[in-house]
Amino acid sequence: MGGSSPVIGILALQGDVREHRRMLESLGATVVEVRAVRDLAGLQGLVIPGGESSVMDKLTRLFGLTEPLRWAIDEGLPVLGTCAGMIMLANELADGIEGQETLGGLDISVQRNAFGAQRESFDTRLDVRGIEGPAMDVSFIRAPIVTRVGDGVDILASLDDARVVAVDNSQCMALAFHPEVSGDERLHAMFVARAREYPPLPGDLPTTLV
Ligand code: GLN
Repeated sequence: MGGSSPVIGILALQGDVREHRRMLESLGATVVEVRAVRDLAGLQGLVIPGGESSVMDKLTRLFGLTEPLRWAIDEGLPVLGTCAGMIMLANELADGIEGQETLGGLDISVQRNAFGAQRESFDTRLDVRGIEGPAMDVSFIRAPIVTRVGDGVDILASLDDARVVAVDNSQCMALAFHPEVSGDERLHAMFVARAREYPPLPGDLPTTLV
């Protein structure tokens, strides 16, 4: 279903939209930048980029996208969240700013800005479950970590000290790092393949949402 060029949205209110766009297009996806509810129509996948989750949350609410995005996730839309996107997908958040909300969708707890000042940002190589070949080159930029993993959520990657940095529940995949910045396409390719199998969201979204 959906042909060989799946339609993938990127939540484009804030953050590293361009880097995701470049990578998804090079993998053959058709990209839609999502800024309004109508942009969700026909999507087979959604990327929530890195950026600043507290700002992304405020803008998502301001643009009336919070409930529509929760609806789409409930429908089963495949979602890939990187860094701030991981935070947006977490059911539970520690160290958010006052009043900060998430969309939820993944039964995990995350701690925002979990790395100390010294190691706030760093590049490393990471073995990721399901990724063949050499370890992935990835960038951590003021990243969160996953502090609790609920039932039905698989751990895809941990650091040497066992802190969990990538998880997946077969629908929502969340990464604390940025392969779209370091240029390793393999996780995005896995996501594009998942989106290709997902029947597009309806062209006419439920009237309660629009
Ligand atoms: N520290 C950011 C936040 O709290 C995440 C950083 C990132 O996305 N690179 O949202």
